[in-house]
Amino acid sequence: MMLGFLLARAGVDVQVLEKHGDFLRDFRGDTVHPSTLEVIYELGILEEFLKRPHQEVRDLAGQVGSETVPIADFTHLPTHCKFTALMPQWDFLNFIAEKAKHYPGFHLKMQAEVTDLIKEDGNIVGVQAKTPTGTLEMRASLTIGADGRHSVVRERAGLEVVNVGAPMDVLWMRFSRKNSDPEQTFGHIDAGKMLVMLNREEYWQCAFVIPKGGFDEIRQKGLPALREEIANFSPALRDRVEELRDWKDVSLLTVAVDRLARWHLPGLLCIGDSAHAMSPIGGVGINLAIQDAVATANILSEKLREGAVRESDLRAVQQRRMFPTRATQGLQVFVQNRIIKRALGSTKPLRLPWPLKLVRRWSVLRRILPRIVGVGFRPEHVKTPEANIATAK
Ligand SMILES: Cc1cc2nc3c(=O)[nH]c(=O)nc-3n(C[C@H](O)[C@H](O)[C@H](O)COP(=O)(O)OP(=O)(O)OC[C@H]3O[C@@H](n4cnc5c(N)ncnc54)[C@H](O)[C@@H]3O)c2cc1C
Repeated sequence: MMLGFLLARAGVDVQVLEKHGDFLRDFRGDTVHPSTLEVIYELGILEEFLKRPHQEVRDLAGQVGSETVPIADFTHLPTHCKFTALMPQWDFLNFIAEKAKHYPGFHLKMQAEVTDLIKEDGNIVGVQAKTPTGTLEMRASLTIGADGRHSVVRERAGLEVVNVGAPMDVLWMRFSRKNSDPEQTFGHIDAGKMLVMLNREEYWQCAFVIPKGGFDEIRQKGLPALREEIANFSPALRDRVEELRDWKDVSLLTVAVDRLARWHLPGLLCIGDSAHAMSPIGGVGINLAIQDAVATANILSEKLREGAVRESDLRAVQQRRMFPTRATQGLQVFVQNRIIKRALGSTKPLRLPWPLKLVRRWSVLRRILPRIVGVGFRPEHVKTPEANIATAK
């Protein structure tokens, strides 16, 4: 969506295909990072964006065993917004779509599920999509796979996936919020368990982290056992665990960390999770996907307008974004293995792991972490000028 917006803004004709009829998926994270807010600022729409309901997270704390540790302080970032905004992803996407529709080159087709690529003479020249009215054939000078971590585009293209691995899956559920509850979004980790609670005003969106592949065993033990486990771990939720009425109230999100060895073929480029599925650790996947979109628009928009994109241009996008991808995934794997895997495998009360002891001792680390999470490696800036606005709708 972000790339569609940026390209249409730069005067390129774009068709975005979305398989669902709306953006109401609650399992893709809510974090709009300082770097994304900076992009929104550079696009001149920050003030309007911040009028939409959101929460502003300026610092982050975590609870390990019985100890609470300050983890990140965003207030020193060199960005206009010194906070991460929490906004449901559907509100964010609807906002971007609204803005994109001002440009005559932007076209969004909902309920269009890409099922295959169209190949001619070794080039990808478009896609086939399933729609309520039948099969659609869409031809394009460049096809972008931005279809997430279960990408059909990358699968149909046969691009080689390097699996980095994740030791956990996530159970996604919600509990009502009370006025007396704390405001803060926070994470709690202890022997064998981890719970992250995102404040969505009327309710808590909760991520209960479980060992990879452990869901079948949890189901066999039954829902009352899961409710009891959550209530014992987070006593504040004891009076709300009955809100899990049946298994439909619990979604299993399988966590994947992987990346493509090569993000492109002639006529095709993958970006975002489609090129590199991100772990939820650090809540940085959305940030990376948006940064990919900005880099892609910067590198390709002029060439797309001229209708002359070569594979070397697509390679340039991968070369630009591979370092931030590797570096971020490397850190996620470090946290997965050093903290989460050990915690999930432990039966004894957890002691503070050494990386967090360092964070507690040296406040300077509490400034470095938000830079990595909130801004990321190699931040991108909008370099594409707006095409003649007189042509906008
Ligand atoms: C449990 C969990 C929690 C997470 N929490 C966070 C968080 O808090 N913060 C954060 O930054 N990251 C988080 N992430 C990672 C984040 O969700 C992803 O990195 C990010 O959403 C990637 O963006 P994307 O646009 O590449 O893909 P997606 O957000 O997955 O978007 C892909 C889009 O393509 C559509 N689509 C899929 N297939 C097709 C098709 N065949 N045809 C047409 N359309 C299709 C989908 O409907 C979707 O709209 C989390 C991940 C997990 C698993």
